[in-house]
Amino acid sequence: MADRTSRPETLAAQTLAKVDAATGAIIPPLHPSTTYERDVDLGYGRGICYSRPDNPTYALAADTLTALEGGAATLLFASGMAAANAAFLALDPGDHVVVPTVMYWALRAWLLGFATRWGLVVEPVDTADLAAVEAALKPGRTKLVWLESPANPLWSVSDIAAIATLAHGAGARLVVDSTVATPVLTRPLSLGADLVMHSATKYLNGHSDVVAGTLTTARDDDYWARIKTVLGQGGGVIGPFEAWLLQRGLRTLFPRVRWQSASALALAEKLEAHPAIAEVLYPGLRSFPGHDLARRQMQGGFGGMLSIRVKDGEDASIRVAAKLNVWKRATSLGGVESLVEHRASIEGAGSPVPRDLLRLSVGLEAVEDLWADLVAALG
Ligand code: PLP
Repeated sequence: MADRTSRPETLAAQTLAKVDAATGAIIPPLHPSTTYERDVDLGYGRGICYSRPDNPTYALAADTLTALEGGAATLLFASGMAAANAAFLALDPGDHVVVPTVMYWALRAWLLGFATRWGLVVEPVDTADLAAVEAALKPGRTKLVWLESPANPLWSVSDIAAIATLAHGAGARLVVDSTVATPVLTRPLSLGADLVMHSATKYLNGHSDVVAGTLTTARDDDYWARIKTVLGQGGGVIGPFEAWLLQRGLRTLFPRVRWQSASALALAEKLEAHPAIAEVLYPGLRSFPGHDLARRQMQGGFGGMLSIRVKDGEDASIRVAAKLNVWKRATSLGGVESLVEHRASIEGAGSPVPRDLLRLSVGLEAVEDLWADLVAALG
């Protein structure tokens, strides 16, 4: 008989089909306890000692994500930034790392500021250009290649499988920030990546009420052991309440992301034809430079994020954002509510983002309402 519980939609909806053994509860309990009873012989026969390294509520969200990503193990962190930092701090000072020119701006700032002072040699390249990635790799010295695909907020797409081969050929690991693709649309480990990272603050939780981050590894090796040390001894752990909300959010991940992807594509196509718009950046559009790669690499949709460039420039783009009503002016992405943001004014100096760009995070509202609001604001 075919396995009726192993499809990712089913695993996510039921967070691994686990019913609470003690009570039969369908919805899992939340364990706020920071400390756990020790056995009379000083052991921890029930496996848990203290809530910084372990908590049963962490385990449910982590194991569900491990299954969805097809990995060996997952760690939950206090934020997406804490998860990303751990992947770099598990390297050694002097190591060379290749990172994208287009990436989440706060991580770029941390890499070029803190991580560089700490001793990493950070080399930004256009990771959508395979020849540029190949040229940047220093065999034996490059220890990590970081990708973000699609990359916030220009949504450029990088070839995970091809870059995994290049990175491994040079003796480096590949880590992919898959926050925007989610395991619904792309599974980087199945394409050869060694680690996948998420800002779980976004789609994984999906309700704009948790800050969290995750790393999922393809294998339990020395590098993973170092990452566990960064988390366990560095202490940037998620709390049980956040972990509980995260497993609750994961239950609806598939329908949310599919709905958001369908609405984003419909809006991108309409916006492309609007006379007030200079350019629409969305991997699902045939006109988008990374479209063919996105078709190969993303299954079942192109994600809920797009950006628009307003024809009359920065001031006009700010006026459009001001006139929107259904779309809320706020940072972040991946929640059930649609958000609009003028990115350049958030990212500041050194940002590659054009000043006339508005980033749109498509939520779960009726797409007709979202479109009507855009049409009214664009004039
Ligand atoms: N990666 C991406 C693509 C993001 O958009 C963000 C936040 O916006 C992060 C990482 C950082 O995540 P967090 O805000 O949870 O620290």
